[in-house]
Amino acid sequence: MTLPFCNVALPVPLRTTFTYAVPESLQGTVQPGSRVLVPFRKKAMVGVVVELTESAPPETKIREISRVLDFVPALPPKLIELAHWVAGYYLAPIGEVFRAMLPPVTELKSQRQIVLTEAGPEAAGSLSGGELSHGLTVEEAAFLEKLKEKKGTMLLGPAAKLGVDAASLQRLQRRGLIEVRENIQTKKRKTQRVIAWKGSLVHSEPAKPLAVREEKIRTLLETQRGPLPVAQLLKLANVTRSMIDRMLRDEMLESWEEPIDPAEDPFDVGYSPPAHELNAEQESALKAIRARFELGEFGVQLLHGVTGSGKTEVYLRAVQETLARGKTALVLVPEIALTLWIGRQCRSWFGAKFEGVAVLHSALSDVERAREWRRVRNGEARVVVGTRSAVFAPLENVGLIIIDEEQENSFKQEETPRYHGRDVAIVRAKMEGALALLGSATPSMETYHHAREGKYELLMLASRVAERSLASVEIVNLREDFQQTHKTSPISATLHAGIQECLANGTQALVLINRRGYSWSVLCRSCGASVQCVNCSISMTHHKQRNRLECHYCGSIQQIPKVCPKCQSKYVYFFGEGSEHLEERLRKEFPGARIARLDRDTARTKRQYQEMLGAFAGGALDVLVGTQMLAKGHDFQRVTLVGVVSADSSLSMPDFRAAERTFQLLTQVAGRAGRGDLKGRVLIQTFYPEHYAIQDAVKQDYSAFFERELHFRRMMAYPPFTALANVIVRDTNLEKAIRWSRQLSEYFSPHDDKGVRILGPATAPLARLKKEHRFQFLLKSPKRSVLTKLLGGAMAYCEAKDIPETAVLVDVDPVNLL
Ligand code: ADP
Ligand code: ZN
Ligand code: ZN
Repeated sequence: MTLPFCNVALPVPLRTTFTYAVPESLQGTVQPGSRVLVPFRKKAMVGVVVELTESAPPETKIREISRVLDFVPALPPKLIELAHWVAGYYLAPIGEVFRAMLPPVTELKSQRQIVLTEAGPEAAGSLSGGELSHGLTVEEAAFLEKLKEKKGTMLLGPAAKLGVDAASLQRLQRRGLIEVRENIQTKKRKTQRVIAWKGSLVHSEPAKPLAVREEKIRTLLETQRGPLPVAQLLKLANVTRSMIDRMLRDEMLESWEEPIDPAEDPFDVGYSPPAHELNAEQESALKAIRARFELGEFGVQLLHGVTGSGKTEVYLRAVQETLARGKTALVLVPEIALTLWIGRQCRSWFGAKFEGVAVLHSALSDVERAREWRRVRNGEARVVVGTRSAVFAPLENVGLIIIDEEQENSFKQEETPRYHGRDVAIVRAKMEGALALLGSATPSMETYHHAREGKYELLMLASRVAERSLASVEIVNLREDFQQTHKTSPISATLHAGIQECLANGTQALVLINRRGYSWSVLCRSCGASVQCVNCSISMTHHKQRNRLECHYCGSIQQIPKVCPKCQSKYVYFFGEGSEHLEERLRKEFPGARIARLDRDTARTKRQYQEMLGAFAGGALDVLVGTQMLAKGHDFQRVTLVGVVSADSSLSMPDFRAAERTFQLLTQVAGRAGRGDLKGRVLIQTFYPEHYAIQDAVKQDYSAFFERELHFRRMMAYPPFTALANVIVRDTNLEKAIRWSRQLSEYFSPHDDKGVRILGPATAPLARLKKEHRFQFLLKSPKRSVLTKLLGGAMAYCEAKDIPETAVLVDVDPVNLL
């Protein structure tokens, strides 16, 4: 039976789906998980079919689906199930969850057309008569004339091309002379036909031996090269197109269309992965993983291995085992840069043998991302390496999900849907009956707590490979440094000497600073005012090269002020060093050295990452300066020194996780030194050497830190002892924001202390963001279910009170309380 209606999730901030009719011609093609083009209000929109239904809600005008984008539904059933879980757990609109799951739609392009209305031609004609009707300007009338000549339609282009500006167009539109219509067209996809061996010859009885040319094609496609684009196949096999066509008809071959691949990734050229024998610790970890696979059911393991203990090697073998069992594997890493290393290793391990590895992250172009995604969906890639959103990669039959550096905050998405990639990965593993393997040198409090409670199985790698020792960590007390040198350089005398030594010995140094830009505060010495963003309650950051101030929260820009915007004094000064400043300083202090900077300003595309990291790994650079993206996971063999310019900036954040984050960052950073045969040294500059997060990081003593921090969390009733949610009420209008938070408070307060602690409403630490005023409630409960229920009730309450859905932001398990 075919069902005539379907519910479609659209990428709009509404917690509902929308019903559409399935036209006769599309019945059978429209399935749950299909992407469809539908009319929504006055626009065309791409949504995902959630389910097919027999009937539509009464008394509403039901519109029809205009088009189906996928022949095979974009999302397999398990991912639809996962989307429902994400929507429920994080209280996110389902359409937004689907949007996060799917690659950007690249096969459609939207065009806007200007169309002459019925009244238009007459108005245009008035030009020749001398008198301009409708109060048109000469240009406007001329434009209408031109439009008439073009048979009444033109593409909306730049003003210079049209001959009229946007204001004129709007006037013409208001007068009913023209209309602007959105028109969605299918783009000509740049695809190629790929041919693969199908080998149904076995069915022909008696089996005919292959002709010489057929045999040649078979070896090419089946053993030597794998599926090939048709043009390449014709050339390599030296056969004609008609022969291929005949073999296709005989079902000896099969073929499909596929987006054209870019040239081979230069990062991979000439790379061969190290081939290590596993040491005893690695071997025993792998044994435990294998035992899990034998059980063939869901489980979570935590691979707690010190930095440089060879976790990657264990991951690769776990993936190998998974593939050998006919299942697929997903590897999640916290940074784009890390997808390059692990992606490359995976490709050289599994690329040829197991049909392929896909890499997914946000620095890919839309087309690349869509292509990689499609390779996964087609079943062509059976290993996926990616960042956060790759947790939604459309793999089927998943056997293993690895989450490397599971403690990293970058797994948390800071926009709707506010999911945590690690937690979604665990839920996905559960749905698939797969193994979730979390890896870290510094597990998050939550994860380690679960491991100790026996909820996760703990696997340990206690020492570095090849009997290498951990780097030695020293503190540079900045208070003392200043008393001695009376200099305010971000580079202390000790760090300077350390870098000098690296340069003399021909080894490499990493220098970390956790802010980008030149200086992160602009202040007036006369009145004390700081230059704030016009939209946010945050100081503007000075970017010297771009010669402007930027807001790192909303992206707004300002001119660099010559005088104080408040008191007009000319004593404006900049302070607080960022990475750009540090780079400049290093160049000054070490004129001969080869120095580069890696942060979000210098690395935006995959290529930039590859070039910079490749240059450093290949020894073409001496010093690499960067933000914390350098701290994680990299395996640079010749780094002997790591300097942390300011360990304090993360300690002073108004957040209960400040200590944990500082400890993790410092331990991770320390892990970048001394990974090869050379011994490593780490210098941590700080004003507060007494703090336990710094002291334990110096000793690289995870369990000491964990015990102390756990005690604090228990006393303060913070995670892992409670479930936490942050609710922000926001609006550009201050009064509305206040009124709504008061209303919400009326809903919350009767529930306070009945299984949930409710703090607030209070002004959020970031009181204004992107022009919106913000108020905050913090909800804590020892029972997750109580919290979820209360939040669900709050959503319903807001709806009943006409508080707009966009005004209330719910962040479940927040990692950032600003
Ligand atoms: P981690 O992720 O635990 O910090 P990696 O997986 O990056 O460590 O491994 C650190 C280094 O040790 C890499 O250069 C890797 O090639 C090497 N390595 C891994 N396993 C072994 C082994 N069994 N013997 C020798 N070297 C190894
Ligand atoms: Zn001033
Ligand atoms: Zn801003």
